[in-house]
Amino acid sequence: MKLILIGCPGAGKGTQAKRLSKHFNIPHISTGDLLREQIELKTELGKKITNIMDSGQLVPDEIVSNILSERLKRDDCKKGYILDGYPRNLRQAEGLSDIIGEADKVIFIEVNEDVIVERMSGRRDCPKCGQMYHIKHNPSKVSGVCDECGSALIQRKDDEEDTVKNRLRVYHETTMPIINYYDKKGILFRVSGNGDIEEITSCLIKTLEEA
Ligand code: AMP
Repeated sequence: MKLILIGCPGAGKGTQAKRLSKHFNIPHISTGDLLREQIELKTELGKKITNIMDSGQLVPDEIVSNILSERLKRDDCKKGYILDGYPRNLRQAEGLSDIIGEADKVIFIEVNEDVIVERMSGRRDCPKCGQMYHIKHNPSKVSGVCDECGSALIQRKDDEEDTVKNRLRVYHETTMPIINYYDKKGILFRVSGNGDIEEITSCLIKTLEEA
């Protein structure tokens, strides 16, 4: 199953993609994670994109599509995958068919924007194992410490309030047109991302198994 998850920043794509990945036993591929990995590894590419990502702008299409193509060549992608964060604009959506052919399903996770800033500013990530938390909705057992590996949790720089607002603006300008693009192809399914995490996962699984 080649699945694409779309939703504004903070819609819960990453959290849900991880849960769907376990359920369907296919990898979760986040272009944001792939790009952050380059920054952590301090590669030439990582140095080039640090400022762009910190300010909430989109990384140039060619860089992201190259990095994604390489990732999709790995063996674990043979049975399918869940794309999170790609495509982000119409050009990427059109170019994606050159990389993967047609996606099977595209899920649009819809969330009221008034909850987004609260959600994102409370988000905490483990830089070592990738586990995600929320200080209110999904706290770690010990404040600031990862339950899984004991590392100190961090707030992503792009989860700070001003950057969140910029990311939402970028999202509206560039990502919304791809909703129409997939809707016209008849492969778009809308799921509400406003409920609690478990409820949304059940709804997603039901939509994917039925559709
Ligand atoms: P995310 O973790 O998906 O919220 O992505 C974090 C940041 O990575 C974004 O704000 C962009 O700077 C960059 N990024 C991730 N995916 C893409 C993409 N498909 N195209 C361009 N930039 C991206």
